[in-house]
Formats: sequence, structure tokens, C-alpha cells
Amino acid sequence: MHPFTYQRATTPAQAVAAVAPAPGAAFVAGGTSQLDLMKEDVLRPSLLVDVTALPLTTISALNGGLRLGAGVSNTAAALHPEVAARYPAVSEALLAGASTQIRNMASLGGNPLQRTRCPYFRDPAQACNKREPGSGCAALQGINKVHALFGASNSCVATHPSDLAVALAALDAQVQVTGPNGPRTIAFPDLHRLPGDTPQQDTTLAHGELITSIDLPAFTGRSHYLKVRERASYAFALVSCAVALEMEGQKIRRARVALGGVAHKPWRVPAAEALLAGKKPSEKLFRAAAEAAFADAKPLEHNAYKIPMGRNLMERALLETSGLQPLQGPAGTAFAASVGGVSGE
Ligand SMILES: Cc1cc2nc3c(=O)[nH]c(=O)nc-3n(C[C@H](O)[C@H](O)[C@H](O)COP(=O)(O)OP(=O)(O)OC[C@H]3O[C@@H](n4cnc5c(N)ncnc54)[C@H](O)[C@@H]3O)c2cc1C
Ligand code: SF4
Repeated sequence: MHPFTYQRATTPAQAVAAVAPAPGAAFVAGGTSQLDLMKEDVLRPSLLVDVTALPLTTISALNGGLRLGAGVSNTAAALHPEVAARYPAVSEALLAGASTQIRNMASLGGNPLQRTRCPYFRDPAQACNKREPGSGCAALQGINKVHALFGASNSCVATHPSDLAVALAALDAQVQVTGPNGPRTIAFPDLHRLPGDTPQQDTTLAHGELITSIDLPAFTGRSHYLKVRERASYAFALVSCAVALEMEGQKIRRARVALGGVAHKPWRVPAAEALLAGKKPSEKLFRAAAEAAFADAKPLEHNAYKIPMGRNLMERALLETSGLQPLQGPAGTAFAASVGGVSGE
């Protein structure tokens, strides 16, 4: 690991003032992503500004929804009674990630900002435009089985690994940030970006912008998160799916669906959402929505398996969220949700 300076901030303003003017500076929260990448020589910050002492560790009511402080741990958020009861997709996504020990350290601000798990990004001996702009992309001609189906470019075909981010995209969460130019709000689906020619930029945050909270809007529908992974625990998503359904009588008033493990950002599927709106839940409808969601998928040499896997997962997530099918296998299978809870009206 390269030498670096360490500072601990006690207010958001102090943290921003330390990072913004220093191009080599970075925030660190739980450190579960940041420090790994430093040990692997992928990142070499000159200054780490610790944000764990900032007063951002509460979950509070906000306009009928919830404000989740950026410093809340993944465990505390997942097990919070209001989160678990009203936004089960968020709890399920958090509990489907990493291990208990990592979730205890990890923060809600740090989780969506973790970097890709593309193995070439994490190996400094390989060409990687995200790690070293202009060096090439070893995944294009390499083993690209965990890579993207949607929104990729010739510069980068990586996927985003956060489970939480997929649930937050489906629930239209908002990200509150503060930075050198003051505070602003970012709609969650706009936080992450597609790689284009600048894959080194994962998000639309400017250097020195600090996430202070993630706000969940008022929501009285049902939500659910499912993840397919190679092991039942401690593995990133091959494909995942978050569903938020609002019903009106027997019909779906509004459906929001986000897919994970298939793009450089959580992938909302507007064509499928439009197909579901105003219809009565049925297996046939959900199959058609899943077909629509993957209609524009562009597989690479080794990841075409994600298309049928993703369709089946999305269909099952819709069946379980709507109540047409009971929750299946909550533990011990590779296809299981970690907790398997759907709630709401
Ligand atoms: C073995 C292993 C398995 C894992 N499995 C999963 C998994 O299955 N699913 C999953 O989703 N995740 C998984 N993770 C990732 C883990 O959940 C993340 O590393 C963690 O959530 C990051 O949070 P942190 O607080 O530790 O962030 P840090 O490592 O401290 O920081 C991560 C990034 O966020 C930035 N940052 C932190 N806080 C802020 C803030 N408030 N404002 C602006 N920038 C900030 C940092 O500068 C850094 O760039 C796994 C990690 C490991 C090591
Ligand atoms: S897919 Fe992206 S992260 Fe992976 S090697 Fe290519 S440029 Fe790097």
C-alpha cells in the first residue's frame, strides 16, 4: 500500500473542505471497499478523510418516507423496523450483500460508491480504462462472464456491484449531497452513469461531494429484491432484480423494476414498467414484461446466460411481489433472497 495521510472530520463541511481542494484525496467510511483497493494497488489516494465521526448515523421520518443517514451501517439499516416493514426490498438487498462482519462496517454512503468487481480492474497487470484511462479493456476479449448486457461501450463493459443501489433505483430514492458548491439532490437513478468514453467516472458526483443521506420517498406498495449468485452467501450478484409495485384494486397502478448485475448502473426497464401499468397481475403478463426488459440486451462472448437467468428472475420477483406466488426458499439456495419479506398493501 502506498503511503497516505489520514484525517478525521467531525462535520460535513470539514470533510468537504479537506477533500475538495486536493485532487488525490478521498473520503473513507467503513473502508471495506476503499482499503481493499488500496491494498491491491488499484487506488493510491494521497489523503483519506474519515467520515465515520460525522453526525450522519440516524434514520428519521421525512415527508411520509425515511431519511437514511449516509453513516448508518448496512446492518443497522437492514434491521431497522421501519425499513424492513415499509421498504423490504432495501432490507433484502442489504442482507443479500457481503457478510455480517462486512455489513457491520459498511455504510449506506459507501455502498453505492463501491467500485466494479470486474477482475481486470482489480489486477494492475491488466489493461483497464477504468483504472488507467487509455490503457484498453482486457474484458472485451477476455473472460467477460460477469459483465454487462446493457449500456456498455467499447471502453468498458463493467457492471455495478451494489445490491442496495438496485433497490434504491426501483424505489426512486433521492441522494442528498453537499460539496464545494453547496448542497444538492440527485435522483437515485441519476447517481451512476454509463461508461461511454470516460469509464473512470462511475457517478455524477463531483470530486469532494459528500453523500449526507439517502431519502426513501413515501411508498405504500409492495417491494422485493431477489439476487442470483454463485454461492448462497458472500457473493456478488450475477443478476438481481428489485420490484416496487403499487396496486389499485386488482390492477397494477404503477410498477418500477430495476435490474442489477447487467449494466454499469442499476438498470431500470421503462418498456417493461409501461407494459405492467394498468394490468391485472398474471404469469403471462409478467413473462411478457421480462421479455420486454431483456429485448435490447447485447451479450458478450461469455455472458449470454444472464439473459434467460435475468428473465426468469424478474418473472419470479414480479410473481412473488404481487402475491401470485409465495416466497420461495429464503435460505440456503443460490436463488434465494436472504430474508424473503414482502410487505405493503
Ligand atoms: C468480500 C466482500 C464481499 C462483498 N459482497 C457484497 C455484495 O454481495 N453486495 C454488495 O452490495 N456489496 C458487497 N460488498 C461491498 C461492501 O458492501 C462495500 O464495500 C461497502 O458497502 C462500502 O461501504 P464502506 O462504508 O465500507 O465504504 P468505503 O470503503 O469506506 O468507501 C467506498 C467508496 O465510497 C466513498 N464514500 C464513502 N462514504 C462516502 C460519503 N458519505 N460520501 C461520498 N463518498 C463516500 C469512498 O471515498 C469510496 O470511494 C462486499 C465487500 C467485500 C469486501
Ligand atoms: S470492463 Fe471496464 S473495469 Fe473491466 S477491464 Fe474493461 S475497462 Fe476495466
